[in-house]
Amino acid sequence: MTAQPLHILKTVYGYDAFRGPQAAIVDHVMAGNNAFVLMPTGGGKSLCYQIPAIARPGMGLIVSPLIALMADQVAALRQAGVNAAALNSDLQGDERHALWRDISSGALDLLYVAPETLLRPDILELLRRTKLSLIAIDEAHCLSQWGHDFRPSYRQLDALVTQFPDTPRMALTATADAPTRGEILSHLKIAESDAFIAGFDRPNIHYAMAEKDNPRAQLKRFLTQHAQESGIVYCLSKRKTEETAAWLCEQGYTALPYHGGMDKAQRQANQTRFQREEAVIMVATIAFGMGIDKPDVRFVAHLDLPGSIEAYYQETGRAGRDGLPSDALMLYGHDDIALRSRFIEESDAPEQRKRMERQKLDALLGLAETAGCRRQVLLSYFGDHSEPCGNCDTCAEPPKRFDGTIATQKALSCIYRTGERFGQAYIVQVLLGVADDRVTQSGHDRISTFGIGKEHDSRTWRAILRQLIALRLIDVDMTGHGGLSISEAGRRFLREKPVLMLRVPAKPRATQAKGVRA
Ligand code: ADP
Ligand code: ZN
Repeated sequence: MTAQPLHILKTVYGYDAFRGPQAAIVDHVMAGNNAFVLMPTGGGKSLCYQIPAIARPGMGLIVSPLIALMADQVAALRQAGVNAAALNSDLQGDERHALWRDISSGALDLLYVAPETLLRPDILELLRRTKLSLIAIDEAHCLSQWGHDFRPSYRQLDALVTQFPDTPRMALTATADAPTRGEILSHLKIAESDAFIAGFDRPNIHYAMAEKDNPRAQLKRFLTQHAQESGIVYCLSKRKTEETAAWLCEQGYTALPYHGGMDKAQRQANQTRFQREEAVIMVATIAFGMGIDKPDVRFVAHLDLPGSIEAYYQETGRAGRDGLPSDALMLYGHDDIALRSRFIEESDAPEQRKRMERQKLDALLGLAETAGCRRQVLLSYFGDHSEPCGNCDTCAEPPKRFDGTIATQKALSCIYRTGERFGQAYIVQVLLGVADDRVTQSGHDRISTFGIGKEHDSRTWRAILRQLIALRLIDVDMTGHGGLSISEAGRRFLREKPVLMLRVPAKPRATQAKGVRA
């Protein structure tokens, strides 16, 4: 089949127009470029590879992790008149012959294949003799070693880069935070400039975050704006979900607990009530979430720090599926942060994983402590963009700020003078003028930025660095040692030195140090 993308969109799929970034992605790949596509589930990723695969000469090769998913896609495409097939490793006899013949003769538009099958030498050999229009790797986050869906065979897909260097490559996923994104791009040798990221904004969700002061009072105040509405309250521990649910019931709400330690029937019963009844508050651990399909969840509150920005986005994303105004509140305390840091340091995970975890925690704190619009920081973590939104707490009431221009200059110069390869802790030491062995061995006790930051303590410097990372003036080496470097925006800052307001870091609360509060 040869036809133009828009024509295919209409005749094969029956749609009149591309949605969001689809048109730009299709054009980009039609021109023979690679592409990385990050869009939430339901965003319309399939068309982004299917249409160029059909429109370009040759057969499109689609790598997909699940046979069941492939079968569905193939059936739908065939129904629409596209010559699609799945190469299944247990295909036998005549069927297998017929498929190999179709592949070799160039009769197929699209071939779906699982990575394990694709990487077999006989299959690779067959494909090398076939003209390919593109190679699309769906669910590309499966190649991330530290992700939840890691599939070792996905890791070997870099063989495709060398075996088919002239075929456009696409990697598609709905779940990729910054480290995972970096891993996919570098592993499949796709350039940053080939990345398309869009559709993450949930404009009807209002974001707010606050330090824990008196969490129950803070929750109660939040709930007064949501009388007779349904929502989710996330807690870290099973016990806390039980206690909080009981307390909310005493306060006159209908609240139910939900966690992995509960009897299965009870858990199911609570979920059903939440789905069917109105004005039920589910007080849950992160065990609650998969498969909830309730459009009118009006609020999501986090009583403890979520696992990562990505987890926060997913958990708050359960609010407002109906598009009506919804509210997200996150409470966090310095003891949460300390606890989380300790978990990371004390775990048996390999060093590289720990670094990744530290960076994820820092990114989350950067979001919590930002002086700017939360939506901007949240979306920029996914590579997506927003103007100051007017629908978050920091837009409504900018936090107390100070002129951080000089501090930023000092931090950036210090990163520059030490060669843009050291991590946060090291940079803070040099700023404070702490000459330990590592510093003296590198000769950094003799550079001009040694000890130029004594006006702040190390906590403040760490908070400043986190903000500069959240503002993208500093890049963090996600796959290496967590080294800090100056981004393009950071270089521009050093040239132009515009006034930069930063948030005043909050003082640690003495009362929270013992963990006596809920
Ligand atoms: P994803 O793979 O990103 O989760 P899909 O490709 O399955 O999303 O698309 C989600 C839904 O949106 C599908 O039902 C699809 O047919 C529909 N869709 C995709 N693109 C368009 C479009 N341009 N116009 C209308 N509907 C579309
Ligand atoms: Zn905002």
